Amino acid sequence: MSRKPTMYEPERCWVGDVQKVSYKTREEAELAAKVAEYDHKISGLTVYKCEYGDHWHLSSGQY
Ligand SMILES: [Zn+2]
Repeated sequence: MSRKPTMYEPERCWVGDVQKVSYKTREEAELAAKVAEYDHKISGLTVYKCEYGDHWHLSSGQY
């Protein structure tokens, strides 16, 4: 494990041409999808398991 700053900083992962936020659990990703929908009016986000690592992503853009 690499050292982490004390401030919370979401992990990111390159997927194709975009660097997406990585979520450690499906629950965390689903919560983030709800927040994005509410705060940014992004609807229809779906959660999926990353094929490159042991984490989850949302289906749209940088999320
Ligand atoms: Zn990933």
